[in-house]
Amino acid sequence: EERILSESAHAEDQEEWSLRPQTLDQYIGQEKAKGNLSVFIEAAKIRQETLDHVLLYGPPGLGKTTLATIIANEMGVGVKTTAGPAIERPGDLAAILSSLEPGDVLFIDEIHRLSRSIEEILYPAMEDYCLDIVIGQGELARSVRIDLPPFTLVGATTRAGMLSAPLRDRFGVTLKLEYYTMPELSAIVTRTSRLFGFEADRMAAEAIALRSRGTPRVANRLLRRVRDFAQVAHQTEIDATLATSALDRLHVDALGLDDVDHRLLRSLAERFAGGPVGLETIAATIGEDAQTIEDVYEPYLLQQGFLQRTPRGRVLTPFARQHLGLKEGN
Ligand code: ADP
Repeated sequence: EERILSESAHAEDQEEWSLRPQTLDQYIGQEKAKGNLSVFIEAAKIRQETLDHVLLYGPPGLGKTTLATIIANEMGVGVKTTAGPAIERPGDLAAILSSLEPGDVLFIDEIHRLSRSIEEILYPAMEDYCLDIVIGQGELARSVRIDLPPFTLVGATTRAGMLSAPLRDRFGVTLKLEYYTMPELSAIVTRTSRLFGFEADRMAAEAIALRSRGTPRVANRLLRRVRDFAQVAHQTEIDATLATSALDRLHVDALGLDDVDHRLLRSLAERFAGGPVGLETIAATIGEDAQTIEDVYEPYLLQQGFLQRTPRGRVLTPFARQHLGLKEGN
């Protein structure tokens, strides 16, 4: 089963490295975050200082990794990339930190998944650019302090609330990424289609944008599948007819919901009379991971008004019933 949605990049998203915007100007949308960031970057450059640490949060695929790379490009420095789960031992983090060049950006994706003991190494590194490590064991153990070059930590997380307070407090800049609007997604589809060499016309770009759940990564994935259909049909241009027929075959409905969304909403309606029901229960019922539902599926369903969150659990909305073609009270 191919998934259009996921927490992280697919193998084929490696191709997306070449699709990634390189500068703030090329980065479409997120006007608020971009506006603030460009001021902070400009100011740091004028003062010839390292940019303050930046925390980016928002659902997967909205452009956090891309923005981290852009920050480095705009500052004219290098970037090193890692992820919370990849840093298992203190030595892992120490090795990364001591490999940084002055001014570098260190990007830590899924930063909320760092263990407590790793976080504690990060605090002095972020505040004073130094590393306190213990050498030796038992009576011979001693603590040594190693100076680090100044650097900018860019952390990414799906929800800012998942970070421990002491870590969150050490970021000077916190930016929230929002779901993209239709015109923004449409512009992203147009841009990517040009890079693919299969230009999508306006109507086709809009059809794809409409089903992209406000998420550039999803837009690019859908476009990639549509490109396959164009390729096989020996078409170098993508029109709305081709786009729509390709999208229908992918089981992505007119509002961007896929099979998992449908199962989730339907089970709420049919087995729980529309709720309220707890997330864990829904997850178990449809055989999905609760964390994945909470991070990947639910934010869009909430934002679009298919679901409501109440203290007693999730509730199906009349809008969702209407979209699924279900009768009230079913
Ligand atoms: P995240 O780190 O938030 O999961 P990414 O930075 O990996 O998301 O973005 C996913 C893909 O979407 C990238 O490969 C990039 O090509 C595209 N993308 C993200 N944001 C934008 C944007 N603002 N403009 C154009 N393309 C974007």
